[in-house]
Amino acid sequence: MSVILVESLSKRFSRKGQWTEALRNINLELDSGTFVSLIGPSGCGKSTLLRIIGGLETADAGKVSIGGMTPLEAQASKVFGFVPQAPALFPWRTIIENMQLPQEVNRKGGAAYESNREDETELLRAVGLGDFTNAYPKELSGGMQQRVGIARAFASGAPILLMDEPFSALDEITREKISHQLMSIWEKHQKTVVFVTHNIREAVFLSDKVVVMSSRPGRITEIVDINLPHPRT
Ligand code: ADP
Ligand code: ADP
Repeated sequence: MSVILVESLSKRFSRKGQWTEALRNINLELDSGTFVSLIGPSGCGKSTLLRIIGGLETADAGKVSIGGMTPLEAQASKVFGFVPQAPALFPWRTIIENMQLPQEVNRKGGAAYESNREDETELLRAVGLGDFTNAYPKELSGGMQQRVGIARAFASGAPILLMDEPFSALDEITREKISHQLMSIWEKHQKTVVFVTHNIREAVFLSDKVVVMSSRPGRITEIVDINLPHPRT
């Protein structure tokens, strides 16, 4: 079933009277429960596309449907979990308390998600942080904090996770480690993930589908289904 449908999407930005065509006529249909990477050179519109899907940016033309909702409606219904380059962790809260933030926010918004300490601990264990549940963010390295952000997104009730270069601040070895951890979590939880990266190896390793983009103007040049033999099995 397609959960994200993008039709004839276009977006331009103006800066000092200069127009940049960030996206031209993007069409994309993504199935529920799949792991999709958006890949392409810097400036080809990956973030912009992700942000429009997530309702953080509006398009100039075209249509986005998230299971029949507009991106803003989907956002209001807590459909999206965002994983940015560096996760926002409250320094005065322990790691497990930071894990519970999205659920707390959602409860205030009226949604039915409840925090489950057992699941949260299990997810922290899955990213190698089982011994850090009661630590504070400042006791963790950048890479470890980023792993908290990923575990937290999976702990939230959000069915669609949007990840914008979540590993970009990490060194090569840490990236490799986190990719494997992310994959093993994803195999258990099977959420829909849209993952922005410019690392081809990572995209192929992680994804069911790789969407290749190019710039000037930002557009999709190729959509590759990765069906096997799958590198992660
Ligand atoms: P990518 O994520 O692939 O690196 P982006 O989506 O960030 O690409 O950017 C696509 C293009 O749109 C780039 O040329 C970028 O400079 C431009 N752009 C993105 N956001 C803005 C903005 N808020 N204002 C002006 N130009 C922008
Ligand atoms: P960064 O990306 O910031 O380099 P890493 O995740 O690679 O962060 O971790 C950096 C250091 O933190 C490691 O060298 C290690 O000493 C410590 N560390 C990372 N993960 C764990 C863990 N699960 N248990 C104990 N120490 C860890």
